[in-house]
Amino acid sequence: MLELLFHPVISGLIIMAIIGALAYRAHFVDVSGLIGAFVIGFTVWYTGGVAAFTIILFFFFSSGMATKYKYKAKAKVNLAQEGKGKRSWKNVFGSGLIPMIFSIGIYITKPGVLVASIDPFWSFAMFGGFIGAIATTAADTLASEIGVFSKSKPRLITNLRRKVPRGTIGAVSLLGEAVAVLAGVFIGTIALLFAFLAPGWIPIYNIEQLIMIFPLAILTAFMGCNLDSLIGAIVQNRFVCEICGAIVDKEFHCDYETKYVGGYKSFTNMHVNFGSSGMGATLGIVLGAGLFVWILGGLFFWILASSSN
Ligand SMILES: [Zn+2]
Repeated sequence: MLELLFHPVISGLIIMAIIGALAYRAHFVDVSGLIGAFVIGFTVWYTGGVAAFTIILFFFFSSGMATKYKYKAKAKVNLAQEGKGKRSWKNVFGSGLIPMIFSIGIYITKPGVLVASIDPFWSFAMFGGFIGAIATTAADTLASEIGVFSKSKPRLITNLRRKVPRGTIGAVSLLGEAVAVLAGVFIGTIALLFAFLAPGWIPIYNIEQLIMIFPLAILTAFMGCNLDSLIGAIVQNRFVCEICGAIVDKEFHCDYETKYVGGYKSFTNMHVNFGSSGMGATLGIVLGAGLFVWILGGLFFWILASSSN
């Protein structure tokens, strides 16, 4: 009987039921979001293992809490998520689909699943992609939900000299950037804790991978979050609020209809999130594949070159 409880399908179903009930009661998701979260959560639990699941759970609860944080104050100035902050299946799949795909990747690159013997490098590279995608989404969500409380006006990522109203697409602030890095620190810490306390539960196989995982989480969080702002500022559908002048992705602002001003009309925030988490994943794989030195070196010389003139 007890053995049955430890079967990954049984334990997964029990854990998803408990977490689902908690998340629904906390109004993190609506019914469609709950179903989406169940599909993604269970798949990651079964394929990516306990560590990957814990990381996606961190994202799920931290972004839920950040969305609820001072919700009324954010709603008053049109900076809050719609639907009382409850995420629908669109939000859930927008942020969870790519991590889920990489979680499946972790599973099928395990020795004996598809091929009898396979280099453990592949499983780690998939894990890097998973971390990259989830760090990007977590950093982006937390930075937007917390960054709006920045005391100083945000600046536009495509033109950092220009100050813009809060909530503008592509607006970045120092507070938001700090929160993004912090999201990476949390995710990296979870990975490290697993690597030390329960190494069998995480796809890290050697010392190089162990050293890489923490900076990988921070770099993908920081770069992925800024890539998201950049993509948003360039391609996303934009509307101007004729009351406060903010450029937003909503058709209503300040209780009035907004005017379409640019970007691709069918390109919504969900598509931007897909794009950025895909890029975050790619970055994670590149870093996980040991091309780390190249990126750090490049960054170092770029800073050196730009500070010398
Ligand atoms: Zn407005």
